[in-house]
Formats: sequence, C-alpha cells, structure tokens
Amino acid sequence: MINANLYALFESRFPEDRSTCFLETPEGLYYSWSDLERASAKMANLFASLNLPAGARIAVQVEKSAEAVILYLATIRAGYVYLPLNTAYRAAEIEYFVGDAEPSVVVCAPENFGWISKIAFKSGCAHVYTLDEHRHGSLLERATPQPDTFETVSKTADELAAILYTSGTTGRSKGAMLSHGNLASNALVLQDYWHWQNGDVLLHALPLFHVHGLFVALHGALLNGSRIIFLNKFDGAEVLRQLPRATVFMGVPTYYVRLLNDPAFDAKLCGNMRLFISGSAPLLTETFNGFIERTGKTILERYGMSETAMLTSNPYEGVRKGGTVGLPLPGVTVRLANLRDGIGDIEVRGPNVFKEYWRMPEKTAEEFTADGFFRTGDVGTFDADGYVAIVGRSKDLIISGGFNVYPKEIETIIDDMAGVLESAVIGVPHADFGEAVTAVVVLKNGASLDEAQVMAALKSQIANFKVPKRVHIVTELPRNAMGKVQKNVLRQEFA
Ligand code: AMP
Repeated sequence: MINANLYALFESRFPEDRSTCFLETPEGLYYSWSDLERASAKMANLFASLNLPAGARIAVQVEKSAEAVILYLATIRAGYVYLPLNTAYRAAEIEYFVGDAEPSVVVCAPENFGWISKIAFKSGCAHVYTLDEHRHGSLLERATPQPDTFETVSKTADELAAILYTSGTTGRSKGAMLSHGNLASNALVLQDYWHWQNGDVLLHALPLFHVHGLFVALHGALLNGSRIIFLNKFDGAEVLRQLPRATVFMGVPTYYVRLLNDPAFDAKLCGNMRLFISGSAPLLTETFNGFIERTGKTILERYGMSETAMLTSNPYEGVRKGGTVGLPLPGVTVRLANLRDGIGDIEVRGPNVFKEYWRMPEKTAEEFTADGFFRTGDVGTFDADGYVAIVGRSKDLIISGGFNVYPKEIETIIDDMAGVLESAVIGVPHADFGEAVTAVVVLKNGASLDEAQVMAALKSQIANFKVPKRVHIVTELPRNAMGKVQKNVLRQEFA
C-alpha cells in the first residue's frame, strides 16, 4: 500500500540533487532540501519520543520562520495533526482554542511562554515548547540532539493532517478538519492548473497560519521542488528587491494595492515573473486593471476557504476576468442554491472538501446538504462562460423593509464614482426597516465628496430601497491579517 502521508508525496517530488536550495531568506539564510529532510526528521523524532496518543494535535502560535515551516512538516511527517494559530490571538482566544482542541503539544513564542503554558497545562497539555523567528527556543534545543533520519509515518488519505480554525466573525470559531487526502488532491490540481514548472521560484510573503500561505503557496513550491524566497512578513520594499529573481507570487488584495502605491513598482521588476495570484478577499477591479496597466501582467484571482482549500480559479491560459474568481477547479463541483435573480448560495463538493468540524457534529450537519455538498456561506453568480463571481457572504446580505439588498451591487457603483477609493455597505438595525442600508466610503487622496453627493449619485442608478440611509466617509476600512474587510467591526461602529 502506498503511504498517503502528505509529506511522503512532497518528498517524492523533491529535486534529485538535494543539496540545491529549498528556502532562502533576505538575511542570507540558506536551507537545502537535505537540510529540510534532516531538520524535519529531528523534530519528528522529538515528537515520536513523547509517546503522544494517535491523532494528537500540535498547536502552534509562532512568528513566521523557516523553522516554523519545518515544524509544520515534522508534525505531518510524524503522523500528528497540525493546528496553526493566528499570531494576533490573545489569552481569551488561545484559551478557547486550546480548550477546544486539547493539543498534546503547544509551541509558542518565548515571550508568551508564561501565560500560554498556564493555559496549556490547565487543559492537560504536558509539552509546551518555544520557538522565535531567529532560530532560538526550547523546541530547537530539544530537537537538535535527535537523529536526523526518520521514517515518515504511514497514513491513509482519510486520516487527519491539520485543523484550521475558521476566522468566524460571529459565534464560535470552528475547527475545519483537513485530511492528508484533502490537502494532497488540492495541491496536485493546482500544480497542474497553474502550470508550475521547472525553474519556478516562489516569493513567499504570506503568513503561515492560514490556508493561503500554508497550503496554497507552500504546498505549491514543495510539490514542485521549487525554491522559496522566504519573507517573514509582507514588506513592500523587500518584495520589490526580490521580485526580479522570482517567478511566482501569491498575495491578498492589500499586497497588490500596496505594490501599486509604490511608484518604484514597474514592469521591469516583474520581467521574470510568470504568475501573480490573488485571493482570500475580493480584488477590486481597479487594482486588477491598474496592475495590467503598470506591469503588463494579469493577476490570476482564485477562491477558496479553510474548509475546502481552493475551489475555483481563473485559467492560466484562457481569459482571466477581473471581478470573477474563475472556473471550478478540476474535480470540484460548484452549484448555486436558492437562486433569486441569478444570485445563489454557493455549494461545493470535491476531494478537497473537509469532512467535518472538530467536535461540532451539529454544525457539520447544518453546513452539509443531504447530497453531500458543503454550504460555503458565500453568495455568487455564474456568467455565461461559467465564471463564478462572489457577491458576498450570506450573513452580510441586508434585508431592508423586506427587500434583499446585496452589498456588492451598491459597493460596485460607489467604487466607480470619481474620487472613491473603496467602500463597504452594511446593514445596521433600524426600527422601521429592520435593517438600514449604510455605506462606509474611503476617498482617494485629495478627493472631496460628501454624503449628499454619494446619495444623489446612487438615487439616479438604483431602486430607492437600496440607497443607503447614511453614508459615512472614513479614512480607511478595518481589515484582518488576510485583507478581509471586517464588516462586523463596521456594523458595531455605525449601529
Ligand atoms: P478563510 O477560511 O479565512 O480562507 O476565508 C474564506 C472566505 O474568504 C471565503 O468563504 C470567501 O468569503 C472569502 N474569499 C476567499 N477568496 C476570495 C476571493 N478571491 N474573492 C472574494 N472572497 C474571497
């Protein structure tokens, strides 16, 4: 029987010459493929020596570093379950995740050891290690003396590889359980779909605690045996310095906005680049078009989520349509339920889709249909060519005076007004209407536009019930680490 452990798949694709570069950093650190094998073996041996129960979770809240990549791979290799946690989470959040997931091992930043170890020990976790972004901490101290070979633990495709907690803004965050098979199938499809090729070099600037940086970007390079230029965080100036040596870059829309804001960013720097990919939040048409104008390159936008990894993508060779997330990936079925005026709830099925939420059978039952489709919670449309466009989250839908209002429709019109940079449309509680449509607008530098002007412009274009009752002009929209506009924050602020 072949070993379906994801690490075994990666290893089978490592370059023949393992002394070549796997990962390099701007500070001059260099890790070969054989360094990766040996360091992950040491850490896997450490975990194996702890006599952890089968299916043990290893929870990790550390800054991004090459060692954090190795920690992820060592966990998978040793047959345990990787549980990454956003570095922004504080005590109340960590308490919830640790209490819910009951990890056997917790790895945290040295400066957080005091409070995190208390939470971990209280929940019954016996092993808390530290790791910082400069190769220090008890994890490496304990791993260093271990043997540098390790036989990757045998797994079936159905066995659990990782738990990603959703960044749910309402209710409790849910742990999406992803199997070795879920992750392998998605990585293999993307390698083919995005034409990963010999000589590719990935410029990695995304965080490692989220599906985009951890699975889409990292798995892409691992599966293709490609070198990674590894940045500890997105830093526009550093990206500009490294771009000429890279061929593939993945980012959230905010990264692309920041690159375009830098006058030094130009076509020449992108001369070697084969592919720019965007996802995790909607890419504004203005950014999509501005990028083509500046660089001659067309950003490829794709769509996915923690529970499913990638679902749709604009094509590599065919037309990449701005404002859409492209076509369902091979093997993925996408359908729209509860259609009204061509807009429906996006439901998906495929080998990449998770099976269940961690210890939440009732949530799992709620979010899967009787015929096995997952309800994504996103609302979207299909165009005549089968391209999917995301209209918003179903919970962002506004019901005002009994009418459905889709925020995206109004945002698109406001964004097109001269002087507007971007906007977010939300519903706030209203005594008469149930919810009142409210727009929050950011202006371009130097532009002047006021509430009355925005409302007047909207009145001439859309039905009255869709016209916002209030328009607030603000200097920026609140966003999370993945560039998603936090509408819950706006709803609170403007309630
Ligand atoms: P997460 O689980 O944190 O990756 O969040 C997944 C959600 O991000 C999806 O359900 C979508 O609402 C949103 N999302 C991801 N990619 C895109 C995209 N290209 N355009 C619009 N929304 C996106």
